[in-house]
Amino acid sequence: MFKVKIFTLYPEFFPGPFDKGIYGNALEKKIWNLNIINIRDFAEDKHKTVDDTPYGGGTGMVMRADVVANSLDNNLESKEKIYYLSPRGRLLNQEIAKKISKEKSLNILCGHFEGVDQRVLDNRNIEEISIGDYVISGGETASYIVLDSVLRLIPGVLGNEASILDESFENGLLEYPQYTKPQIWQENKVPEVLLSGDHAKIKHWRLSQSEAITRDRRPDLWQKHNKKN
Ligand code: SAH
Repeated sequence: MFKVKIFTLYPEFFPGPFDKGIYGNALEKKIWNLNIINIRDFAEDKHKTVDDTPYGGGTGMVMRADVVANSLDNNLESKEKIYYLSPRGRLLNQEIAKKISKEKSLNILCGHFEGVDQRVLDNRNIEEISIGDYVISGGETASYIVLDSVLRLIPGVLGNEASILDESFENGLLEYPQYTKPQIWQENKVPEVLLSGDHAKIKHWRLSQSEAITRDRRPDLWQKHNKKN
């Protein structure tokens, strides 16, 4: 079983979408499980304080090292890896999602306010991970993205494993265009080749579409793809 633990100040965000649909089914089948840890439970004063003003001045609040570390230490083995969601982190991509999906567990620390006291990040086995070059207000919604990208790669979660192999990024390219019924919609036809039944020809058409779209939209991916092949 793939064990997920999420450390958050806002436990009401969870399970959110994750006890429904394919992920809900997989939960029931015990392919994975979800443990939500409320960081506030580990605050030691009577007001349950979790944050304070930053040393050196400036706006906003910082999550306290002692409280955050307390929540981690009470719920994890001492060297266990934790992913802290942060705009300063390594950018999440398919490769990282795949790597995480092969591990036994996933521990996520969600930040809030101005983030977490640096000393926790330095003194626990923490890797920072970002979902993109923009700032959102808290790590909870970012954790949805990480969790969604990882869970669908875990064997048994998606009905059709083969569909994963055919998706954007799997071969370093973006996906080709998809079509379904009706065959003619508002006078727009489905590309002829897809109706031909000629699988080799279809495969070739899809690859060339993938290449054209990647070259056009993502020169960075295209360059990487060309270096590899
Ligand atoms: N002051 C910080 C931003 C804090 S935003 C800075 O400038 O770097 C508050 C929290 O939202 C962060 O602690 C983090 O957990 C989450 N967050 C914001 N943007 C994110 C991003 N791009 N990726 C992952 N988490 C993010």
